[in-house]
Amino acid sequence: MSTCSLCLTQISNHAAFCHRCSDSLRNTTPRCHSCGIELATSNTHCGECLSHPPEFDRTLVAARYAPPIDQLIHQFKYNGDLRKGRILAEWLNSTLPQSKPDLLIPMPLSPARLQERGFNQSAELARLLSQRCQIPVSYDLLKRHNSETQQIHLKRKERLSAMRKVFYTDQQIKVRSVGLIDDVVTTTATARAAARVLKKAGVKEVIIWAVARTPRPNDKD
Ligand SMILES: [Zn+2]
Ligand SMILES: [Zn+2]
Repeated sequence: MSTCSLCLTQISNHAAFCHRCSDSLRNTTPRCHSCGIELATSNTHCGECLSHPPEFDRTLVAARYAPPIDQLIHQFKYNGDLRKGRILAEWLNSTLPQSKPDLLIPMPLSPARLQERGFNQSAELARLLSQRCQIPVSYDLLKRHNSETQQIHLKRKERLSAMRKVFYTDQQIKVRSVGLIDDVVTTTATARAAARVLKKAGVKEVIIWAVARTPRPNDKD
């Protein structure tokens, strides 16, 4: 017996949450097939993906970035609460797609950010997820420079072009599909830039696999 991490109901398996909490987290709002943003209409794609198709192929989102998931993420990411990390990895694992990616790659942090935080939350999620879904993980294929520009003050186009120079790899990547693990997707600028590098390195399919997606795009990422 264990307990649901949100409502403390007793559950018989090792799932992260009870059925009721899982159902409410999953919410059935339609999402863009490419970027996972919630859609107000019955379209398959959002306006942004239609006018600027992303370099990644699809996005798996385990929950909306809202209470109570945002608090779990916050406690994991900023307070280093690894127990919360295990819960989130369990939750990510419950959204495992039928056609599994061949390799997991965590969204890298810049060296400066890594030093400041002490750990990369996406790398930790990828490590825990890999143990659960038996997909190998690679931590050093995709790398990130320290970005010198303050992204927030840039316009969309400038931000995208600044982002393009942020990620790099120094080798060919010989797998067909990659699951790029991230904690929260806010704008898709980061995911687009990272996917672009992976595709150039030989990956055929990039699936963004994130714990949560913010409901509406904004300028923070
Ligand atoms: Zn519950
Ligand atoms: Zn979209």
